[in-house]
Amino acid sequence: MQTNPHIQEQLEAWVEENRGHAILGTTAQYIPALGKEDPSQLGICMIDDNGNYYCAGDTDKEFTLQSISKALTFIALSCNYGLDFVLERVDVEPTGEAFNSIVPFEIHRPNKPFNPFINAGAITISALLPGQTSQKKYEFLLRFLESLVGHPLELDKEVYDSEWASSHRNRALAYYLKEAKFLEIEVEEALDIYIRQCAIKVSTKDLALIGLIIAYDGYNPITKVKHFSDEIAQVAKVLMVTCGMYNSSGNFAAHVGIPAKSGVSGGIMAAVPPKLHSQTYEFRAGAGIGVYGPAIDVQGNSAAGTMMLRQISKEWDLSIF
Ligand code: GLU
Repeated sequence: MQTNPHIQEQLEAWVEENRGHAILGTTAQYIPALGKEDPSQLGICMIDDNGNYYCAGDTDKEFTLQSISKALTFIALSCNYGLDFVLERVDVEPTGEAFNSIVPFEIHRPNKPFNPFINAGAITISALLPGQTSQKKYEFLLRFLESLVGHPLELDKEVYDSEWASSHRNRALAYYLKEAKFLEIEVEEALDIYIRQCAIKVSTKDLALIGLIIAYDGYNPITKVKHFSDEIAQVAKVLMVTCGMYNSSGNFAAHVGIPAKSGVSGGIMAAVPPKLHSQTYEFRAGAGIGVYGPAIDVQGNSAAGTMMLRQISKEWDLSIF
C-alpha cells in the first residue's frame, strides 16, 4: 500500500512547530539517568492500518517505557488471568492526584488501589505477573511485548540502576501495599519487577504499533493476529482516557481526545480508533502514534509532545468524543 506524502510533510512541519514547547517542561530530574537527556528532542511515528509508518523528528532515539509499561502490564496480566481477576485487585477510578502520590492509597484507604496507572496500582499488578521470581515475571512481560512489536526488546540497565538507587518513594509505597496485604510477594521483589518494566527500551515506532493494536481492540490489522480480547482492549482504553495522562487526563481528553498513556521518559503511546469523520461522515481508519519528547510538564507528560498531539488531533479530527 502506498504511503501518503502529505501526511509525512505535515508531521515534519508539526514537529518543528512544536519543538519549542519543550521549554514548558524539564527532563525527569528525580531519575538521574533520565534527567540528563537533551530536552529539545521531539519525534513522532504514526502507523496506519496498512502498516505504513510516517516518522518525523528525533525518531532514531530509543527511550524507556516508564509509566507506559503500566498499560501493558495491565493488558498482559488480564490476558493471562482474565479481566475479572485483575479488576478484583485494582479499580478503574481516576484519582486526580499525582501518579506517585501516597494520598489516594493511604488517606482514602480503598479496598484496592484506585487504578493500575498510579504507582500504588501499578506495583500491585506488576507483582501479580506470572512467575516465581521478579526475573521470571519480567521475562513473561518482555515476551508479551515482543509478541506485539515483533522483535526482541531489552532493558536499559543504566536507567534501571538509576531508578533503583533513587526510588525511595516507590519503596515507601510498596511497604504500604505490603502492610495493607495488597502485595503477596516481598517488597524488594515487587520493586524490582516494577522498575524493570519501566526500564524496557522502545522506539516511537514500537509505541505506534502497540497503539494501533490497542486501537483495533487487540487485533493487529497488518499481521492479522488477535493478541488480546475486545473486553481487555476496551478497559485499557477507558483507563488510558481517564488516567493515562496523569492528573491532566481530563484536559488531554478535552483537547486531544485520543486514548493515550505517557511516561516520565517523555514517551506517549496513543491509540486512534477508527471512526466516522465528524464533518464528512466518511469512515476513517484507525492508527497508532508514538511520541518522544523528554521535557515533561509538572504532571509528567511530554510538554512538546502533548502540544503536538493537540495540533494533530484538531487538524485531522482524531478525537473520539
Ligand atoms: N518509574 C517511574 C516512577 O515510578 C515511572 C513514572 C512515570 O512514568 O509516570 O517514578
